[in-house]
Amino acid sequence: MTNCPNCQTTVGTPFKTWSVSRKTSKHDGVSETFFGMFDCLECGHRFRAGIKGNETGIKGVAEKIKGIEGEFVNTLKNLREKLKTLTTERANLIIEIDELKKLAEDKANALESEIGMLREEVQSLKQLLGVGEMDPM
Ligand SMILES: [Zn+2]
Repeated sequence: MTNCPNCQTTVGTPFKTWSVSRKTSKHDGVSETFFGMFDCLECGHRFRAGIKGNETGIKGVAEKIKGIEGEFVNTLKNLREKLKTLTTERANLIIEIDELKKLAEDKANALESEIGMLREEVQSLKQLLGVGEMDPM
């Protein structure tokens, strides 16, 4: 945070920022100092002040992008997990349908053989009663 040198009011975001890079003797590093131009909303004083790197907004934007990337990755992860769940569910349903089909087939087969047995019974009853004697066999 930066304070107005005139009235000590805390000022917000600078309306202009720039950085000055200087070569430092340490290592072979470059130190970057950020400056901002501020307008004090309280007394109207315009002043220049050094600001921390994270106050320039650059770091904030980078973090925001990171956040968006994170959300995107999360969305992809969620979608992948959803797809996995759906694929598993689909496989389970197919298995269930297959089992039900088998059951239905078994039932149909059972009914068919029962009908066959009943037909035979009808036939033997007809033979017993002499009804089927006219049939050309
Ligand atoms: Zn001021």
